[in-house]
Amino acid sequence: MDEQERAERVAKGRRQAEWLASRDVAAVAVTFVDTSGICRVKGVPVSVFDRISGWGVGATPVFDAFLLDDSIADTSVANPSGDLRLLPDLSRVVPLSAQPGWAWAPADRYTQDGKPHPGCSRLLASRVVDRLAESGITAKAAFEVEWVLFRGPADSDPEPFGIGPAYGMNRVIEVSDFAVELLRTLSAQGVAVQQFHPEYAPGQLELSVAPESPVAAADTAVLVRSTIRAVAARRGLAVSFSPSVQAGGVGNGGHVHLSLARNGQPLFSGGEGRFGLTTDAESFMAGIVERLPALLAVGAPSVASYLRLLPSHWAGAYGCWGLENREAAVRLVTGSVGEQTRAANFEVKCVDQSANPYLLMAALLASGLSGLEQRTTLPDPVHGDPASLSDEQRTARNIARLPERLAAAVDAFAADKVLTETFGPELTETILAVRHAEIEKFADASPEEVVAVTRWRH
Ligand code: GLU
Ligand code: MG
Repeated sequence: MDEQERAERVAKGRRQAEWLASRDVAAVAVTFVDTSGICRVKGVPVSVFDRISGWGVGATPVFDAFLLDDSIADTSVANPSGDLRLLPDLSRVVPLSAQPGWAWAPADRYTQDGKPHPGCSRLLASRVVDRLAESGITAKAAFEVEWVLFRGPADSDPEPFGIGPAYGMNRVIEVSDFAVELLRTLSAQGVAVQQFHPEYAPGQLELSVAPESPVAAADTAVLVRSTIRAVAARRGLAVSFSPSVQAGGVGNGGHVHLSLARNGQPLFSGGEGRFGLTTDAESFMAGIVERLPALLAVGAPSVASYLRLLPSHWAGAYGCWGLENREAAVRLVTGSVGEQTRAANFEVKCVDQSANPYLLMAALLASGLSGLEQRTTLPDPVHGDPASLSDEQRTARNIARLPERLAAAVDAFAADKVLTETFGPELTETILAVRHAEIEKFADASPEEVVAVTRWRH
């Protein structure tokens, strides 16, 4: 980053600060997401936002090695010496309606000499988006957000709030005021909500948003989750986004929807392939399907993720794809006849919200890109729940269970050239160190103990 760029950022930051002050904002929460999926923050008063916009706010590189319980993994690449600069993205500054006086901005992390920090997940995601653009392709993405709402406080034995039937109107009645306040708050913050509904588990709710460019979609996932928590907190309610909220129960997914276009032309409809897929769309999806086990080290990155990723829990525990199949890890959505050009996309279901959304987006796009480059083809689609087939039938059809433990996913990631080359040696080492340390931490823990530590963290 040169002097002129810094000066332009400072000038733009000054204009933003004036606008924020006129909206009664006193402070900006500048956030990034760490390796174990926790959103970390530095707050800055609006009075210094101009300088921060150009020079950033300091943060230790050791955050990269934080575990979900705030202990720190032992790694040579992230240590307490040195300083990183969090530079807010000035195009994504949002006043927070449920936290009056606060605004939010996602940050990119740079070194003190103005170079991109090799461990910055948001910059990594932007670089992969640029690589995709070099192949003439633009992607759109959206993260679905599931959570369980509890009566507060956030203690060890919380009581779900909204216990009516799954997908039931009764539950909407129970959470009616909370839901309306949430939808109004998100709308005021510029988030385009598309759907809100009660989910399967007691107290569980879901919200989906319109697709955006990939980095913006990851930003929105961060904003939506902090907004849900803030709206709930104002009502004395507690929120869990944890993959597993109650050992043995249905968990929270963090499904990712993706679609592609080449020169503005959608690639998931109107093609010659199965269900209207174009060759590009098939190869891209196939690049993801073939490396699902490795992707889980990024997309289902906590020990608790594997308490959720169970067959017949709509979590996508089998490494296959299918048309509108909610038990396949990858679900093709074609949309209704007549709106397919606009609506067709695919959903990666096996991932959850302990994932850093920027890392996950980078990993998914890099996998898809590799599929495109290799002209990879998809295996046969799977119809119905693979768990209802016998072992022999699944083997004959090549339907493999995805890793049942984090360690297996981490081994697959370490061996995956596409992902480790995309992430680079430093980020790869950090991810491996954090995952191994969390595996070690929970080596002797019961599912209940894992859930207790994880429940309120993400
Ligand atoms: N809660 C399920 C999961 O863990 C997903 C339910 C759905 O299909 O929306 O992913
Ligand atoms: Mg859902």
